[in-house]
Amino acid sequence: MQYDLHSHSTASDGTLSPTELVQRASQQGVDALALTDHDTTDGLGEAKNAAQEIGIELISGVEISVSWGKNTVHIVGLGIDEDNDALQAGLQSLREFRHWRAEEIARKLEKAGVAGAYAGAKKYAKGHLISRTHFARYLVECGKAKNIPAVFKKFLVQGKPGHVAGQWAELDEVVNWIKDAGGHAVIAHPARYKMSATRLRNLIQEFKDAGGHALEVVSGSHGPNDRHNMAQYARRFDLYASSGSDYHGPENPWVELGRLDRMPSSCRPIWTLWH
Ligand code: AMP
Ligand code: MN
Ligand code: MN
Ligand code: MN
Repeated sequence: MQYDLHSHSTASDGTLSPTELVQRASQQGVDALALTDHDTTDGLGEAKNAAQEIGIELISGVEISVSWGKNTVHIVGLGIDEDNDALQAGLQSLREFRHWRAEEIARKLEKAGVAGAYAGAKKYAKGHLISRTHFARYLVECGKAKNIPAVFKKFLVQGKPGHVAGQWAELDEVVNWIKDAGGHAVIAHPARYKMSATRLRNLIQEFKDAGGHALEVVSGSHGPNDRHNMAQYARRFDLYASSGSDYHGPENPWVELGRLDRMPSSCRPIWTLWH
């Protein structure tokens, strides 16, 4: 079985529709795909229909934004019941913050000499929630930087003109939403937060104490060292290990659906909970 347990569609900041995403996953040899859009489950219905038609497994997922001290941390929920009221109320509140933040970001960018940022980002969001990625696409379109990573660095991260601090959900409440909805909670791309080892250990401990299940050990944004280190943390904290590309679309050619490194043998893969 080839699993890819982290991916995005146009329901958040991916560029493929749920149907296109599932088709591509199947072409890439994925047997079970989790769609894990940021703070929304809106793409799951379409993705499930497409998966049924094509004959691959679709795991209902979501990637939830958490504020943990000064850090933004992403918690993936896998195998959730998307009709769960507590989960949906929580996601709704995060989208309301996103809406407010988008206006703030646009106002700040406007001050920094970028005209029409709100309408520009909205155009890329195509009626779905607004992410910084949509602002980034507009800024590239305006010629403000040559590509998405450059635009983030210049405008959208802390200390830069379009930055607005996250005011996301609490770690333990998010783990509860996911568990309430019958799912398993996973710390997404733990090596990407650039935390000190002590701080990362504290995060994992708090997540474990809140009832979290797994660490994403294999990730499209982890190198071999990261994978090795996160496998050790998973073992030390007795957590399951997940594996996902964090695919956002074909514009980013160095990440592909299903193109994942092997799960380290010391790990207990999260899919052993399901099959
Ligand atoms: P948001 O949740 O709206 O704050 O946007 C976060 C998203 O922006 C992440 O999920 C990534 O897809 C993207 N992102 C964040 N930082 C970068 C970066 N440095 N370069 C490219 N994309 C980024
Ligand atoms: Mn994203
Ligand atoms: Mn993420
Ligand atoms: Mn992601």
